[in-house]
Amino acid sequence: MENKKKQNGAETFYPGPSRIHLAAYPPKERWDDWTELDSRAWPQRKERHYSLVPTTCFNCESACGLLAYVDKITGQIQKFEGNPEHPGSRGRNCAKGPATLNQVTDPDRILYPLKRAGKRGEGKWERTTWDEALNTIAARIRKAIVEERRNEIMYHVGRPGEDGFTERILAAWGVDGHNSHTNICSSGSREGYQLWMGLDRPSPDHANAKVILLISAHLESGHYFNPHAQRVIDGKANGAKLIVFDTRLSSTATHADYWLAPYPGSEAAMLLAIANYLIQNDLYNREFVETWWNWKEYLTFESQESSLTFANFERALKDIYKDYTFEFAAKESGVDEKTIAEVAKLVASAGTQFSSHNWRSVASGVSGGSSVARCFFFLNALLGAVATEGGVFPNAWNKFVPRPIYTPPHPKMWNETTWPREYPLSMNEMSFLLPHLLKDGRAKLDTYFTRVYNPVWTNPDGFSWIEMFTDPDLVGCYVALTPTWNETSYYADYVLPMGIASERHDLHSYETHDSQWLGFRQPVLKALKQREGHNISDTREVNPGEVWEENEFWLELTWRIDPDGSLGIRQYAESKKNPGTRLGVDEYYEWIFDNSVPGLPEKAAAENLTPLEFMRRYGAFEIKNKIGKIYDEQVANEELEDLNIDAFGRVFTRAAKPAGPNIVPIPLPDGDEDGRRLAGIKVGDAIKRGFPTPSGKLEFYSRTLNDWGWPEYAIPTYFKSHVHPDNLETDQTILISTFRLAVQIHTRSANAKWLNEIAHTNPLWIHPSHAEKIGVDTGDLVRVETEIGYYVVPAWVTEGIRPGIVACSHHMGRWKLHDEGQKQFMATVKLDRQGTEWELKRERGIEPFASTDADTLRIWWKDAGVHQNMTFPVHPDPISGMHCWHQAVRVKQANPDDKPGDIHVDTQKSRAVYKKWLGMTRSADKFSPDRTRRPYWMLRPLKPSKEYYRLPEE
Ligand code: SF4
Repeated sequence: MENKKKQNGAETFYPGPSRIHLAAYPPKERWDDWTELDSRAWPQRKERHYSLVPTTCFNCESACGLLAYVDKITGQIQKFEGNPEHPGSRGRNCAKGPATLNQVTDPDRILYPLKRAGKRGEGKWERTTWDEALNTIAARIRKAIVEERRNEIMYHVGRPGEDGFTERILAAWGVDGHNSHTNICSSGSREGYQLWMGLDRPSPDHANAKVILLISAHLESGHYFNPHAQRVIDGKANGAKLIVFDTRLSSTATHADYWLAPYPGSEAAMLLAIANYLIQNDLYNREFVETWWNWKEYLTFESQESSLTFANFERALKDIYKDYTFEFAAKESGVDEKTIAEVAKLVASAGTQFSSHNWRSVASGVSGGSSVARCFFFLNALLGAVATEGGVFPNAWNKFVPRPIYTPPHPKMWNETTWPREYPLSMNEMSFLLPHLLKDGRAKLDTYFTRVYNPVWTNPDGFSWIEMFTDPDLVGCYVALTPTWNETSYYADYVLPMGIASERHDLHSYETHDSQWLGFRQPVLKALKQREGHNISDTREVNPGEVWEENEFWLELTWRIDPDGSLGIRQYAESKKNPGTRLGVDEYYEWIFDNSVPGLPEKAAAENLTPLEFMRRYGAFEIKNKIGKIYDEQVANEELEDLNIDAFGRVFTRAAKPAGPNIVPIPLPDGDEDGRRLAGIKVGDAIKRGFPTPSGKLEFYSRTLNDWGWPEYAIPTYFKSHVHPDNLETDQTILISTFRLAVQIHTRSANAKWLNEIAHTNPLWIHPSHAEKIGVDTGDLVRVETEIGYYVVPAWVTEGIRPGIVACSHHMGRWKLHDEGQKQFMATVKLDRQGTEWELKRERGIEPFASTDADTLRIWWKDAGVHQNMTFPVHPDPISGMHCWHQAVRVKQANPDDKPGDIHVDTQKSRAVYKKWLGMTRSADKFSPDRTRRPYWMLRPLKPSKEYYRLPEE
């Protein structure tokens, strides 16, 4: 729904793709010279003139548009505001967007390449040159490639910020070395969505929904935070009812019409009770279910029914779920039966306008978290609220990924350090097990990169990471690509300064709503200089110090790995315009905008701009609004050749997939035995596109789970998680440790002073009844004991949490060992080690300090919170591979000599927990139905050649 305001009787809204009312935005025609009064000169009316240059925020995954206001006199960025030309964020940002300015001017930022001068972690550094760093790193990588040690090269990314650039660099090197943070972030929900629809993220159309159900804190910190939050509010303004499942009273829950605070891990039971209500009362969309579910496969492989009729399936469905009553859900969740019943009725009333989203939250908290997303999407699948107005779309349909200038082939290898055989169905790389896998002696690393990633602080079991980094036999060379100091970079051999949002290029597209758009992050000062006619070839010419952008870095590194082209690598970093020279980022993006973005060349020409000039000027382009039901589209006749239609209606063709500019990474299921590809699904007389699942339909029944050793989870099911009351000891409770704070950004916000002033502590949320039981009040110190150690934190007594459960945000507890670091946000600590016993003690909190920024002398806060993740062992879910964050803990009064932020851990215990969870897996060696390592249809960020999916012969 477009959000219009009446002004003088007329409906007005900002022209362009934002399509909403924006009270005060500079019209784009005036972006070359925008005038504002200087607030500091008040009461004088002093005008300041600005050039407005768009870029994309890099402070979360939402990729909102920013407009940099560059002062025409000083040439410096004065502020960042929203970009009204951006279809996803529509001129709006959260607090973290404008705080990008703090990151530009941060006095503690890393400005020059540094090389380790002492032992790892000793804090001794010397300045080096980019040339030296590039030559050394390139030589190591070349040697590893030539010596066929490709599995020793690893790139580990937290926030990618770009669709596929570095994956292609790794593919160019022939290295299966991509490692992501996803299995500590969102794999639980991704796995559940992927099993249903073949794609791993939902794209809810909140603005047009009648009922919105969230299992996460979308309004303040969830996935696609600002773009989704504003559309949730649009939906509410249009009359939608908001239901939130959250054990904690998040800001999102405060906006809900129904806030349900279940026992953590019981959400799937509640969802199945709602599903059962729809099923038993025939309130589901029968036509949709009959047409688009793979129920025939279910009847064929799972039931005794001899006749494959829909009536038989409906009977079976009623029987399967009949025990998921409201009473059962109430018993498991502790939520009142009547409330669950009311919510079920509300959900039923939404029809196809039911939007829902689960992100992180419980799906990232408990074992079997993927079943939460599976049981959640079950409701959409029952209602037919899939790719409908107000429903939920598969993410790739609301996203646009352009074809790049080069597409290197799939690597001819399989890296078992990231994709071990024990986890054949893991959603992403088993990244957080890396120290354990190396300690097992499975592999070692020659060259390890991190980028926007801080594994010592972000991952569970951080001390095991320190043990890994400080063992040169496990990690030969560690390169930290980072704009700021962090807990992991102290153990690096090279610290290389990378640009932030206004200092780098990236392309983005995200599923913010039912549309496809492309956002362009760019170095603001370079774009402005180019607008003014200057020639800038390298972002280091305009960035502070010697800060570089990663894309130029990767292209240059690739060039130096293979300077004469003899390894076949250099060709992927070579200019097409000037063969024999290195590809530059201008040519890289120019090629994409000229060749791969439908409608952009025409739109640019209408303004007398080239496509690249258009993107530099406006920062975003809307390819299409209202995508609709792609699954229901007819497959074109030219795609239908020498067909084979199987018993389940799957249509296989020999025709090649049509070449199109939009190379959306839709995984294509395997073809038929004769090498035909799956083209679509037979529906009546028509052949429709269907879904990118093995069956081509929505998969109520997962043959994949069944065939790979998990038959008990082949349909949406609830099961008792690792923190179910049956699995806890009587004095244990659950700690929820995953929630974000709206104004913090994991590692990166440590250099954003405005944000740090607002939020700089993470007390333990505890209900008054619970606090009374253990005799603590707000501010009293408590010890939280985990399986491997404990941490000390002040209590915050609040009714905003379910009685008996405690919660602590993961955003805090930043620490530094030396002077280097973000002094405004990192406490100075001392680490002690006795064998496998580690202790972290705070020596100094946050203090004011003198710097180039006068505000650092005004710092008034002292606390930095506690780094709780260090005290958590790894809990890899045996199916999705997701780290299950919820902890079974004991909460006690602190000892008299405990200090806030104290941490104690025994890494021998970490090893024992790792081995216990490893024992729950069902390995490809034993359970693969076809001697492959992983179902080929499942997503993988960097896919090896198909032949490398085969397990080696025994
Ligand atoms: S939601 Fe906030 S932090 Fe995230 S991209 Fe948008 S403005 Fe930036």
